[in-house]
Amino acid sequence: MFAGTLQLGICSGVYDPDAPGKLRWAKEPELTGYTRRAMGFAECNGSLYVTIKPDIYRRIDGEQPRWEKIYTISEPLIAISSGLRGLRAVPRASGMIDFRDLDVKAILFLCCNNHVIPCQKCQDTYRLGWISHVEPGALPCPRCGTDLTEVVVAHAQTCRYWADHRAAQQPLSHAS
Ligand SMILES: [Zn+2]
Ligand SMILES: [Zn+2]
Repeated sequence: MFAGTLQLGICSGVYDPDAPGKLRWAKEPELTGYTRRAMGFAECNGSLYVTIKPDIYRRIDGEQPRWEKIYTISEPLIAISSGLRGLRAVPRASGMIDFRDLDVKAILFLCCNNHVIPCQKCQDTYRLGWISHVEPGALPCPRCGTDLTEVVVAHAQTCRYWADHRAAQQPLSHAS
């Protein structure tokens, strides 16, 4: 069990029927030195993550567990913001969409033509209609050429034009 406290740090404990409160806490906190509240924990691919404004940390399990900072919100946040909260792992879904499928192409480049997606590398956003689809199965950023397939998949999970397609794919199956 993990508890994110402000002042003491991230504390870990295990169930122990003989301990007070049936929890035995580690003597030392695992992560200290942050100045804001821990807002959310989530497990993803076997690792534990915590968000503490303005960062996300990942726990490196082991004899001497430690936490590494893996992400920092780059923009300055307003004072009342608590940073990232409501942390949750979502299944990777790139297998759901076959970008060579004509229906998929039709939704992508007709319906979503004006929808924007971000490119992490350029730190900029682009309309889906600007992405060239010359090469089958590839969705390169129009400026830097980075493959944006995953970003497009993420878009398809929230865009209303994909609702029917998403429904048709239930339960999640892999397009071949
Ligand atoms: Zn869209
Ligand atoms: Zn780019």
